[in-house]
Amino acid sequence: MSAEVAQSPYTLIDGKKISTDIKNEISEAVAIRKKENKKIPHLAIILVGDDGASQTYVDNKVKACKSVGFHYTMMRFADTISEEKLMKHIDHVNNDDDVDGFIVQLPLPEHISVERITDKIRSDKDVDGFTNHNFGSIISKKPLLMPATPFGVMELLRRYNIPTEGKHAVVVGASRIAGAPLSMMLTEQGHATVTICHKYTKDLASFTRSADILLTAVGKPGLITADMVKEGAVVIDIGTTRVEGPEYAKGWAIKGDVDFKNVSQKASFITPVPGGVGPMTIASLLLNTLRATEARNP
Ligand code: NAP
Repeated sequence: MSAEVAQSPYTLIDGKKISTDIKNEISEAVAIRKKENKKIPHLAIILVGDDGASQTYVDNKVKACKSVGFHYTMMRFADTISEEKLMKHIDHVNNDDDVDGFIVQLPLPEHISVERITDKIRSDKDVDGFTNHNFGSIISKKPLLMPATPFGVMELLRRYNIPTEGKHAVVVGASRIAGAPLSMMLTEQGHATVTICHKYTKDLASFTRSADILLTAVGKPGLITADMVKEGAVVIDIGTTRVEGPEYAKGWAIKGDVDFKNVSQKASFITPVPGGVGPMTIASLLLNTLRATEARNP
């Protein structure tokens, strides 16, 4: 009698591993640039206020810059800074030839317009890919700097050889930084047939059930349950919500939008949270910074 080998019903998409691979590739590219006396990528980060979560995100970005050999500049401002003054600092960084890429950490204090600030960043230095120019350029044939999180998702699909062409991709969540640009990339670069769902979508499950690739960026833990997923679907969970409770060792845990335990039993590929899309966002930011440097200083 031959022993039956237990097979995992799904492939876990390991964003941590892929982001480490990408960082290693970037480190190599930086080492080559150094050897050839070319400019070393320089990322500038603006942080306004002292929000704890933003501080953690920024610390992680600085750590990532150091790990790949980039130069970086941290600029901190009190949350009382006026929009006009912040604009002046942005102008200064825009005109600083040594800075290749440049981000303003969100959120900003309420008296400052995110849209006006974001759009003030020079598009060829906008390594978060948030400006109207870079958003629109997703539908051009050669976009330079793409929104970091969707770019990370597309890299995950590409590096796991998950075909998108002709597939039905359903994107849940239509925000400017995640769902909307992701749906455009899936159409333009992935040649998928895309359905985009949002808060006003009626009978969400009737759409998600027909997805070959289901991608969710809402921020509602447990929104996607197993009955909403087709057998064999690829499931990408962008949601990251901090949930508190005594059952978690630290008193809290980061949860995605997907009921991972049950949905994974139906999926062919699935991202965990944490460790899926999250690490890819920083990797994409570094990749964008390298691309911006290569474009400005070949
Ligand atoms: P957001 O701006 O609040 O957008 C959420 C989107 O979900 C909106 O389009 C909203 O629809 C839609 N929505 C709300 N309730 C819904 C429902 N019941 N059914 C379907 N759609 C619904 O949030 P975001 O900035 O895109 O972030 C979304 C999640 O992704 C958050 O958990 C965030 O932390 C996470 N995220 C993670 C990363 C990462 O690096 N891993 C990066 C970015 C975001 P309307 O447009 O109609 O309001």
